[in-house]
Amino acid sequence: MRKKIVAGNWKMNNDLQEGLQLTSEIVHMVKDEVNDEVTVILATPFVHLSGVSRLLDGATNIFLGAQNCNEHVSGAYTGEVSAAMLKSVQAEYVILGHSERREYFNETNELLTKKVNTALAHGLKPIFCCGESLEIRENDTHFDFVCQQLTESLFHLNEEEITGIVIAYEPIWAIGTGKTATAGQAQEMHEVLRNHLAGKFGREIAEGLSILYGGSAKPANAGELFAGKDVDGGLIGGASLKSRDFVDIVKSFQ
Ligand code: PEP
Repeated sequence: MRKKIVAGNWKMNNDLQEGLQLTSEIVHMVKDEVNDEVTVILATPFVHLSGVSRLLDGATNIFLGAQNCNEHVSGAYTGEVSAAMLKSVQAEYVILGHSERREYFNETNELLTKKVNTALAHGLKPIFCCGESLEIRENDTHFDFVCQQLTESLFHLNEEEITGIVIAYEPIWAIGTGKTATAGQAQEMHEVLRNHLAGKFGREIAEGLSILYGGSAKPANAGELFAGKDVDGGLIGGASLKSRDFVDIVKSFQ
């Protein structure tokens, strides 16, 4: 059975105190209201990781994630954070290839190949983001475009390595815009991606990979979005900053 995952991407929000407060609220709500069927991930800013990690100690189904890591193992890369550093604060996941990083920090499929390799080599599970712009969707080339993102950044992996990856399909036109993909659009793309992965890694492996949807998901639409047979959860931006909304999204799986 595939893992059901809801991951919160805090982006560059919350100072440390606010982040710890948010974490405490989520830990309590998840403990009281959520069963162990769903894996919850908090992808915090780097500064928060170590403090949040301590608050997650003892929580059975909430895991720590980062939002990026450098492709190099270590060295003279001022301002950067390595995969080994993330591991040392008990991060288990790292978001790679978010569209904001692709757009504002020029992250290419080629660079992401290196980041994926470094993360996996250090025992981190990449949450690999992919997704098309509105222009690409309107040109009707979105399936090819998103498949290509997977091909160029993930298809060098072997069968064992690919099972360490979580995919997040995030149409750029739906991120932070309040404009959500319809449940049909999400399911349709997820199915295309799973078939694409099956073509490379085999049906059994592809059926075991979790593919999350991201883009203006909120408590009111999460249940419908997650109902798609190939939609295994969500990567949540804005709504992950409010404990009640985030946990309600998690609960839409129950
Ligand atoms: C995201 O940035 O990963 C995201 C899905 O953001 P939002 O939920 O705010 O659209």
